[in-house]
Amino acid sequence: KLSKRLEAVASFVPSGAVVADIGSDHAYLPCYLVHKGIIKKAIAGEVVKGPYESAVKQVKAEGLTDNITVRLADGLKAIQEADGVDTITIAGMGGPLIVSILEKAPEVLKTATRLILQPNIHAKAIREWAIANHWAILDEVILKEDEKIYEILVLQHGDMELTEQEIYLGKHSMAKKTDVFIEKWSKEVQNLKRVLSSLEHAEATPEIAQKKTELLHLIS
Ligand code: SAM
Repeated sequence: KLSKRLEAVASFVPSGAVVADIGSDHAYLPCYLVHKGIIKKAIAGEVVKGPYESAVKQVKAEGLTDNITVRLADGLKAIQEADGVDTITIAGMGGPLIVSILEKAPEVLKTATRLILQPNIHAKAIREWAIANHWAILDEVILKEDEKIYEILVLQHGDMELTEQEIYLGKHSMAKKTDVFIEKWSKEVQNLKRVLSSLEHAEATPEIAQKKTELLHLIS
């Protein structure tokens, strides 16, 4: 059974899409999408040999070698023009790593129409990248599984404007204000308050003063 987290990623894959799942590990997500009849064709990309071999093994075991091509490649290099990929999923990594993968292959991104990104941390980095690279956030989900909180961002080509607060929290997530959203950010505020109070006793250098101002701004 697929994790609740990857099931939520899968729920944003359009029916009939050609998917590239980058950092696929066991290729659970593409296997699930084909089995469910949502898609017929996918690429599973992995840069590390061990996970790549797990993906090859899984695809074979599930009898999906006609549908899923597994490639050992760094990031979006796993995608070839002839694949006709329109949907890219990148899940289970930090926001900055996802951004570095997206930054390395701008050409591939021109033909993609949807990016489904699931950062474990620092979703903010993805929102900043999206604004700068003309991607707009279509939807966002925040969910909890095994005591961990995850965010999913769905992007399509377009421009958007976000306030500083929306870059942090996510415009859609702010509007939905789910219990998980409130839990995540209450904890975050607690952490920031702790950092701030530890700075109270720190030497009053300009750097510390700057940090204090930043933190106060975040929790206000
Ligand atoms: N996507 C799966 C999921 O969400 O459950 C697996 C997540 S796993 C924690 C992250 C995977 O990304 C690892 O298998 C790692 O080898 C792979 N990875 C990291 N950087 C990568 C890159 N530049 N290109 C392709 N795969 C990468």
